[in-house]
Amino acid sequence: MTVTARTIISVRGLVKSYGTFTVLHGIDLDIAEGEVVCVIGPSGSGKSTLIRCINHLEAFSPESIITVDGIQVKPGAALAKVRAEVGMVFQSFNLFPHMTVLKNVMLAPMRVRGMAEAEAAQKARELLARVGIAEQADKYPGQLSGGQQQRVAIARALAMQPKVLLFDEPTSALDPEMVGEVLDVMRRLAGTGVTMVVVTHEMGFARQVADRVIFMDGGRLVEMGSPSTIFDTPREERTRSFLRAVL
Ligand code: ADP
Ligand code: MG
Repeated sequence: MTVTARTIISVRGLVKSYGTFTVLHGIDLDIAEGEVVCVIGPSGSGKSTLIRCINHLEAFSPESIITVDGIQVKPGAALAKVRAEVGMVFQSFNLFPHMTVLKNVMLAPMRVRGMAEAEAAQKARELLARVGIAEQADKYPGQLSGGQQQRVAIARALAMQPKVLLFDEPTSALDPEMVGEVLDVMRRLAGTGVTMVVVTHEMGFARQVADRVIFMDGGRLVEMGSPSTIFDTPREERTRSFLRAVL
């Protein structure tokens, strides 16, 4: 990571409820530009909800304040600016099935940034080469393996030159033999200065690549620290029992 003191994501008192059921109980979190943060924790602990609030894929309590690169995340005109800076990669890839791989990657730069088609195509080919699937450009997502589709999804997110990339369990839907190729791409990305927030069950990846690991449970940020702190000397019993169960 490029160490800078500049905060790119700031979360203050984040509360999120579904009806009377509160999913996030007041999360405070600052993430520095270039930082790689892995979020771990049991199923249902609010990991997805937390990162989906960062680009307002989920609405949250109006008292909560999230800013990305100084822009407040809330409904309205500024939201498009936030979303242009924040790329997201989902467990289920979410590619457009009726478009070729190349078109999937070209779409947002053309639509959102008004990039000319030829330039978008050239950039898309460069990105596909970067994630190791240049030769798949003219296929449709359904013709690719899961690992290849996820690499397309990463290329598509990168096409907008985001400052922040959010990953929600990017390898959880993959056959085991494809997990490594996606983690390799993410590991390389982590060295490029883009800020990454990665919800993952890949503890080896978190230990190796994260600058900071966050453990969530029950809609609360229970503990955070360096990978060695969280994995080797966690303070909280809840963290210890989770790690005993998964490691
Ligand atoms: P995680 O990603 O850690 O598994 P989630 O953020 O998906 O957890 O979910 C946190 C909690 O919010 C869970 O209890 C889940 O059941 C609940 N939840 C998520 N989405 C909805 C929804 N659309 N309606 C009601 N409850 C939801
Ligand atoms: Mg989740």
